[in-house]
Amino acid sequence: MNLARQIEQYLPQHLLKLVKDISGQAANLGQRAYLVGGLVRDLLLGYPNFDLDLVVEGDAVKLAQKAAETSQAKLLAHHRFGTAKLRYENFTLDLATARKETYARPGALPAVTPGTLKDDLVRRDFSINAMAISLAPNDYGELVDPYQGKNDLEHHLIRILHPGSFTDDATRILRGVCYEQRFDFEFEAQTARLLKRDIPMLDTISGDRIRHELEHIFEEDRPELAIERLGALGALHRINPSLKGDGWIAEKFDKARRLKKPSQLPSLYFCLLVYSFSKNEIEQLLVRLNMPAKLSRAIRDTLRLKASLPLLDKPLLKPSEIYYLLREYEPLAIQANAIATESPRVRRTLQVFLTKLRYVRTALNGEELKKLGISPGPQMGKVLEVLHRAKLDGEVRTRADEKQLVLSLSLRPER
Ligand code: ATP
Ligand code: MG
Repeated sequence: MNLARQIEQYLPQHLLKLVKDISGQAANLGQRAYLVGGLVRDLLLGYPNFDLDLVVEGDAVKLAQKAAETSQAKLLAHHRFGTAKLRYENFTLDLATARKETYARPGALPAVTPGTLKDDLVRRDFSINAMAISLAPNDYGELVDPYQGKNDLEHHLIRILHPGSFTDDATRILRGVCYEQRFDFEFEAQTARLLKRDIPMLDTISGDRIRHELEHIFEEDRPELAIERLGALGALHRINPSLKGDGWIAEKFDKARRLKKPSQLPSLYFCLLVYSFSKNEIEQLLVRLNMPAKLSRAIRDTLRLKASLPLLDKPLLKPSEIYYLLREYEPLAIQANAIATESPRVRRTLQVFLTKLRYVRTALNGEELKKLGISPGPQMGKVLEVLHRAKLDGEVRTRADEKQLVLSLSLRPER
């Protein structure tokens, strides 16, 4: 099957030109380049995807160097892995030398040697991700589909390539569920059976790799679907006994999406996923997922703030009281609590902090206070806080108001 015409229609002009240039350069070097992975799958499905992944029979780094010479692209090469990234102005292109893999033991990273396109496709997760399109001039556009991925796409099936696939790499359990839910596909019967059998193999996967696949899921339009499904399959429980994917999670994830800028959304999902955890349960999960320091802080803050929410569930709190209660928490933790709390009053208070109070600044700064006779150090700190509280509570508005307040404060001890 030849897809040359489909590629022309599918790719934007600038990517099409790039693909053709690379194709020519590969031929000049006596190499063969192929488009692989998600883009091939999505092209056949008719979904947009412009993540260009190329596999090269030959030497991907050499090809990338050639391509970088004749364009504005920035080259990032990993000689050891035979991979390269070309960074153009507003997109990137990944190139990898075709490789052959062997697994020393389940869950370990595989040993890698150079190989053919077929070798490179057989190491992939599912048939629908194991297709390639040739970019070689003599058969440009030809679909390479050794595992009948196109047929599985048409029948809406997720199928592993060999029975040992989930034992080799149990992250494929998470990946499979992600695709199942994204495309509303089904697991082929044997794949479904092996997936359930191999859930315990998740124990062999490092924290970083599990976390990475959860982040992959959190990039989905509706990650709660995959989370619920992983819960029902017992995969979440296997990763950490406290993890659940229930209706509460689904409702809160949906709320999170309506609120937040996309960049922080995956982190927010993490905070919500663990909202019902105890302190000990959290610490166990953070270790299991080898969670980075910044996100760990936000997650711990989420629970700490949850425990303090009763302090905020009162009428007539002054803005300054709200501010000084909340300023020590990560904004992400405050956001998570605003979504998770069942108290409308607490939610409003947290939102007021996030949207207004945290940005309130005094007009006068330290330099100006010095000119008014305040000495740097603890005294200055105190004066600044008094000013800031007054500003938050609307007791001062203008720079002149602030000056007057400072003078009244600083004159007092001399009286
Ligand atoms: P998505 O649309 O989710 O990004 P993708 O197919 O591009 O889908 P990536 O995670 O970007 O997925 O991975 C790129 C390709 O690498 C996949 O299509 C798949 O062929 C292969 N791959 C990724 N992870 C694995 C894995 N754990 N085992 C085998 N193959 C994998
Ligand atoms: Mg991808």
